[in-house]
Amino acid sequence: MSLVTKGIHHITSMVNSAQRTLDFYSGVLGLRLVKKTVNFDRPEVYHLYFGDSAGAPGTLLTFFPWANQPHGRIGTGQVGTARLAVPDVSLGFWRERLKAFDIPFQAGSVFGEPVLFFEDPDGLRLDLVGIQTETRGEAFGAIGREQAIIGLAGAVLLSSQPERTADVLRDLLGMEEIARDKGRIRFRSSGEKGSLIDIAIHPEIRGLMGAGTVHHIAWRAKDEAELLRWRERIMEQGFTPTEVKNRNYFEAVYFKEPGEILFEIATDPPGFAVDEATDELGDHLMLPPWLESERDRFEDLLPALEPRTP
Ligand code: ZN
Repeated sequence: MSLVTKGIHHITSMVNSAQRTLDFYSGVLGLRLVKKTVNFDRPEVYHLYFGDSAGAPGTLLTFFPWANQPHGRIGTGQVGTARLAVPDVSLGFWRERLKAFDIPFQAGSVFGEPVLFFEDPDGLRLDLVGIQTETRGEAFGAIGREQAIIGLAGAVLLSSQPERTADVLRDLLGMEEIARDKGRIRFRSSGEKGSLIDIAIHPEIRGLMGAGTVHHIAWRAKDEAELLRWRERIMEQGFTPTEVKNRNYFEAVYFKEPGEILFEIATDPPGFAVDEATDELGDHLMLPPWLESERDRFEDLLPALEPRTP
């Protein structure tokens, strides 16, 4: 039986300030903070998850905020841009909103779709992609349903070996190549959100990991049984996956693809309501069971976060 990912589960980036990231992604862009936890591999650092109010796969941007981390450089071996979908009729609203917050942007188009190109406070590249759709996001603060971010549109990959990364998207992840021009190869996966993946054909600069760069991109698996099949397939194609890791909200396997980008396969279940009521997602510091005994230490160590809606 063939395996096909539905698309992006989440994109995880490194930043310098937890509060500034909360202010930007929630306060300015209107995403919900759906989980406030720690980096399980390095628990003195937060792991903040933003998305729709349920934290659905395909809507998630996540962050490791660490004040002392040197700035990185966006380039090969990384995801270059996270692309967010909005109804095309809302782009006028978003131009005004970015101006109101003094966020510089450029307007253009990619494969015929209108796009606003801008950066977050750490320099992470973001696209607001105007798509023709009846689907709407969720109202939040000053952002109405007609304008709200619907979820991820996709991502731009900056591979050090673009054609080999294209092979991985096609032969391993089961995506379909749907367009190619002088700058990008576009692939489509089967899901409704986070399903259009672009590979830059001529990325220019070598990436350097650090604040203001993407750490990894995760692709959706249906459940743990499917994740184990993905793991087998990764090995069959000559790559080296990690063991299955318990991320509390999903199970995950990681591997480096040939273009040096860190890929993760993550299960849709159990999701973010596994340890917190749906209407309280993101309100409390949540720790996995194996770190709960050290809660006092983490609460002292991690900076307080204040949700603010301008
Ligand atoms: Zn991840």
